[in-house]
Amino acid sequence: MLYDVIIVGSGPAGLTAAIYTSRAGLKTLVVAGTLWGGQLMITNEVENFPGFENGILGPELMEKMRKQAERFGAELIFENATSADLKSKPFKITVGNKVYEAKSVIVATGASAKWLGLESETRLRGRGVSVCATCDAPFFRNKKVVVVGGGDTAMEEALFLSKVVGEIKVIHRRDKLRACKFLQEKASANPKITFVWNSTVQKILGKDRVEGVRLRNVVSGEESVLPCDAVFVAVGHKPNTDIFKDQIELDQTGYIVARDGTRTNIEGVFVAGDVADNRYRQAIAAAGSGCKAALDAEKYLIGA
Ligand code: FAD
Ligand code: NAP
Repeated sequence: MLYDVIIVGSGPAGLTAAIYTSRAGLKTLVVAGTLWGGQLMITNEVENFPGFENGILGPELMEKMRKQAERFGAELIFENATSADLKSKPFKITVGNKVYEAKSVIVATGASAKWLGLESETRLRGRGVSVCATCDAPFFRNKKVVVVGGGDTAMEEALFLSKVVGEIKVIHRRDKLRACKFLQEKASANPKITFVWNSTVQKILGKDRVEGVRLRNVVSGEESVLPCDAVFVAVGHKPNTDIFKDQIELDQTGYIVARDGTRTNIEGVFVAGDVADNRYRQAIAAAGSGCKAALDAEKYLIGA
């Protein structure tokens, strides 16, 4: 079966692309992944996606996008693409022992936030443990929160939080930040932000909600408890590009390089969403780029 478009990934970017390509009459397959729906499937309230004045649950939003794509005829399979052959046409996407062929491909595999890897962190995710200040800061108005990490993301998260929460402690495992000078200075000058140096989070405390963190000073070995209402983990993101890394051009941090809109270095292969975006990382931005990738693929297919 030769598809006009195979879309790999089914977050806001992939499903928006699917809505556009299938509505345009293109034979569309979405390799949705075993964890279909993307990052919004692990959050509760999404309050900043336009069109839902009272907010919407993340999984509900993704269900609506999926149904909208299916309504126009997009086919979805709920497995991971295991390899891709983009070196010759038609392009081939392998899913387990099946190979699907397409005239064009849209990569929308997203990025995964890195976590600390603590059992307590997994248990309290969505109950005070977050990787997205833009998304979750309003739930902690005037509260005490901690941010873990020392890079640009951690500083941006802390600065964003400072507009809403009462107090922020940045926990960093060294005594120097990795963040750029500009963000370091901005965070240091913010009266709501203070730093806990040379420290790692050993455990996030609380039964049903975050109540604090147990810290370990890596120099002295001393342990202490810091009460707080939320923990924002900001230790980096990893783009989901493993299966494309020998074929599509990636930047130094593993993100797909997009040029001239959503084009990649391979003619006929387009990219959308967080997998090419280390900057905005928002659902509406991902959906917008999914739309652009679909329009670019459509133009490519009609030779315009
Ligand atoms: P993703 O949502 O990451 O989707 C990528 C999809 O590709 C996933 O389903 C994944 O399983 C799939 N995939 C990966 N590899 C493969 C493969 N090999 N084969 C097949 N499928 C594959 N943004 C907001 O605007 N508002 C919010 O309130 C908000 N809340 C958030 C809360 C949390 C907890 C998190 C983590 C993020 C939040 N974000 C929010 C950010 C937002 O979710 C992302 O910017 C957005 O989901 C990115 O969309 P995407 O389609 O590019 O990628
Ligand atoms: P990053 O630069 O890799 O920083 C990650 C931070 O988390 C580092 O301080 C690191 O500590 C710490 N860390 C990593 N793993 C940890 C762990 N297991 N436990 C505790 N701490 C841990 O990631 P990022 O901040 O997400 O930035 C990624 C890229 O995006 C960078 O190139 C950055 O410049 C860019 N970015 C730019 C902007 C902007 O320009 N406005 C905004 C966001 C991101 P160490 O320092 O000890 O390694």
